[in-house]
Amino acid sequence: MDNCDFAPSHVRGIAPYQPGKPIAELAREMDLLECDIVKLASNENPLGASPRALAAIENVLMEVARYPDGSGFMLKTALAQKHGVEMNQIVLGNGSNDVLELVARAFLTPQSSAVFSQYAFAVYPLAIQAIGARGIEAPARHFGHDPEALLAAIAADTRILFIANPNNPTGTLLEPDRLLALIERIPAHVLVVLDEAYTEYLPDALRSDSVGWLKRFPNLIVTRTFSKAYGLAGLRVGYALASPQVADMMNRVRQPFNVNAFAQAAAVAAMEDVAFLDECLAINRAGMAQLTAGFERLGLEYIPSHGNFVAVRLGDAATVNRSLLAQGVIVRPIANYGMPEHLRVSVGLEGENNVFLQALERALEELEK
Ligand SMILES: *Cc1c(COP(=O)(O)O)cnc(C)c1O
Repeated sequence: MDNCDFAPSHVRGIAPYQPGKPIAELAREMDLLECDIVKLASNENPLGASPRALAAIENVLMEVARYPDGSGFMLKTALAQKHGVEMNQIVLGNGSNDVLELVARAFLTPQSSAVFSQYAFAVYPLAIQAIGARGIEAPARHFGHDPEALLAAIAADTRILFIANPNNPTGTLLEPDRLLALIERIPAHVLVVLDEAYTEYLPDALRSDSVGWLKRFPNLIVTRTFSKAYGLAGLRVGYALASPQVADMMNRVRQPFNVNAFAQAAAVAAMEDVAFLDECLAINRAGMAQLTAGFERLGLEYIPSHGNFVAVRLGDAATVNRSLLAQGVIVRPIANYGMPEHLRVSVGLEGENNVFLQALERALEELEK
């Protein structure tokens, strides 16, 4: 008998999350210089982080021997002010990934289930499976969340329904009125996790008043991250907003020091740097237009996206991806999402987008040979 045989079957059955290929790894494999590689694979901020966030990290450096503030007081104070919520409605996470797991751990059991959409963010089924709960996948519509299908998927034992808005990897969006109509129809005993990792990229007209909805829906949990528009992916910091009671349950299963001191300080500074955020959003708009214009020129179909990435349909995406890698360009295959014909590309700087589009054109030419 092997020790691993005693791991629960739901743990043994987990297919691990597939992250984007690190630049250093491709450099080793292809004998390339790291500086010659373009990575558009993990929806990272191509402008990096706000200089103010970097300065905040430097200020904390000398405190590295001390534990971080386990209550996250400064960050929660800033978040409470930004969102107009109470401190006890906030749960900080080691990335919003952590927060998603906290929801699962606090509210699921092997006897319950959770609902998510086909093509939705891969972390939901993983978090559900880690508990041994049952994941229920509702069919998507035009690659996006289908409210009717999600409602129909809710079972008697369903405790959580996950919604990614905008969704990753498809970039699809439920507009505010459709989203609200969906949440209104979800039974009050089912927690709604509204994952808004890309909400900063939305124009005001398409952004839901999700935080305002918390007052009306005690079963609503809104999650946000500093990894994308704020450019702090490497630090791992995100958060959830919920009713004080739900937040309390999540905090009970949280590691006491789950958000490190650098992340806390940088997140506060990043939030203050509105000018940097605006610049990032402008670069993203321009880059998205550049990529989609390139796809149209190449006669490629893509899924119109509301995030900082776009899924483009290539047919034999695996072969195209191999060619891109050989040319030093890392994007994200999404066959594991059931989308073997697409690649997901993150919006980069103008030069990076150009390198990618040229490499893509070359890859498509090779494919035709
Ligand atoms: C990137 C992403 C997250 C969170 O990432 P963290 O780095 O863990 O905060 C959450 N949800 C979606 C849909 C994402 O794409």
